Amino acid sequence: MNIAVCVSHVPDTATKIKIGPDEKTIDSSGVTYIINPYDEFAVEEALKTKEKFGGDVIVLSVGGDANKETIRKALAMGADKGILLKDANARDSFSVAKALAEEIKNLNCEIVFAGKQSVDYDNSITGQLTAELLGYNCVTVVVDLKIGNNKVIAEREIEGGKEVVETEFPVVITCQKGLNEPRYASLKGIMAAKKKVIEEKPAAPSENKTEIIKMKKPPEKQPGRIIGTDASAVPELVRLLHEEAKII
Ligand SMILES: Cc1cc2nc3c(=O)[nH]c(=O)nc-3n(C[C@H](O)[C@H](O)[C@H](O)COP(=O)(O)OP(=O)(O)OC[C@H]3O[C@@H](n4cnc5c(N)ncnc54)[C@H](O)[C@@H]3O)c2cc1C
Repeated sequence: MNIAVCVSHVPDTATKIKIGPDEKTIDSSGVTYIINPYDEFAVEEALKTKEKFGGDVIVLSVGGDANKETIRKALAMGADKGILLKDANARDSFSVAKALAEEIKNLNCEIVFAGKQSVDYDNSITGQLTAELLGYNCVTVVVDLKIGNNKVIAEREIEGGKEVVETEFPVVITCQKGLNEPRYASLKGIMAAKKKVIEEKPAAPSENKTEIIKMKKPPEKQPGRIIGTDASAVPELVRLLHEEAKII
């Protein structure tokens, strides 16, 4: 049994994002890209699964040539092979999932790992859509995973607690922080990754179901206001917090 991991290539969360002149895409000049942080948990869990049950860990990413950097990071952590599903055009989550599912169905993978969310567009849906298109079971926001006797027992984070669910293979698992501690790529791993294969093929054609019509930045923060510097300012401060800010 092989193990698939889906990884997205996202702007570093420390990067200041600027919207492009078309107001529909971001201006990527000067933006540093990284592997989506939740996908590091996915890669780690795939590697742990391989260590217990064998098989190859196959990393898939949909996007342009730049995504190879992110695939290479997963290979340096220990994944066996990468597949870049190329498309020069913007794809929405459905269209990305369609490309992933079309490829995964030929890979003999009974288990697919994805992040719970991509930290750029935040749709939190690609793993679930991929599962649906493949006809696989799906467990989301997983923080603990046990596999045995063709069964998967997963602990999920829910509001105010945890939920334990059981399902069967084939399954897509979306990974949440806390599932594991992603390993660092060792120097040996980084060197080995340079020799590992990244297969490149066109992403399966698919229409987008959603179209970005406008991107907007949040309103600029108002500058701070000094009401006073001693206790006499307290009544006015309380009034403003009550009537203007409406937080008390
Ligand atoms: C050429 C190209 C250009 C793009 N341009 C745009 C754009 O302009 N605007 C836009 O909104 N989106 C664009 N995308 C989509 C973008 O690359 C990612 O798919 C996006 O970062 C995922 O965000 P999401 O919120 O849909 O993912 P979520 O649903 O939040 O992601 C959940 C999980 O799904 C998996 N996943 C998500 N995306 C990918 C992927 N691409 N490959 C492999 N696994 C993935 C990861 O495991 C991730 O943790 C483009 C995609 C392509 C192929």
